Amino acid sequence: MKKIIVAVDGYSSCGKSTIAKALAKFAGYTYVDTGAMYRGVALYALRHQLEGEEVVGALSDIHLSFALQNDGSQHLLLNGEDVEPYIRTLEVGSKASQISPIHEVRAFLVAQQQEMGRQKGIVMDGRDIGTVVFPQAELKLFLTARPEVRAQRRFDELKGKGEDPVFADVLADVNERDYRDTHRAESPLRQAEDAIVVDNSELTREEQMQHIISLFQKAID
Ligand code: C5P
Repeated sequence: MKKIIVAVDGYSSCGKSTIAKALAKFAGYTYVDTGAMYRGVALYALRHQLEGEEVVGALSDIHLSFALQNDGSQHLLLNGEDVEPYIRTLEVGSKASQISPIHEVRAFLVAQQQEMGRQKGIVMDGRDIGTVVFPQAELKLFLTARPEVRAQRRFDELKGKGEDPVFADVLADVNERDYRDTHRAESPLRQAEDAIVVDNSELTREEQMQHIISLFQKAID
């Protein structure tokens, strides 16, 4: 059966990684969470108190990789350390969104992402996968949901992790991140012309999954 590249782009907290992971499992493909890579660079910058573009000088000291877990999930390794427990906080997400517009940071990560897709058989999620990393991807999905729906999901997720978020702050963060991700000069989040838009505000996970599996099956035919 032919192997393809699936690019999954979209706004923050619209369930990209859940869907991309499930599709990768269904297809027997490798899943790559590029947001985790931006978060890994952000964590390094926070730990070393690097402000603004200072992180550029440190890129050669940052080695990222993924370790496949027994349950099929992937953990990000930063210089060999499993940093999965530290990269999902609001603080790291916000720093990731601040360092992601920097050209050198993007070039550094995009080159690694392109290498990971050389053999195809990959589902990659992010903001620029269908537009910059793999403009030739055979299937491009652009996920979206209303900001309030996304903020609620993010709120529930943070609560589940034992954090004590304020809904208004989470919503403000979602809106702010959307603005930054779509207005930056370098690789802004935008839908590729040939991407298929999936608005999941009103879809259950199962409905969305069925829809996406049928799109995948059409793409590999
Ligand atoms: O997807 P996630 O929320 O983990 O991404 C964290 C941040 O990394 C995003 O807000 C975005 O600024 C940045 N990012 C990016 N390009 C990607 C993936 C993530 O700019 N391909």
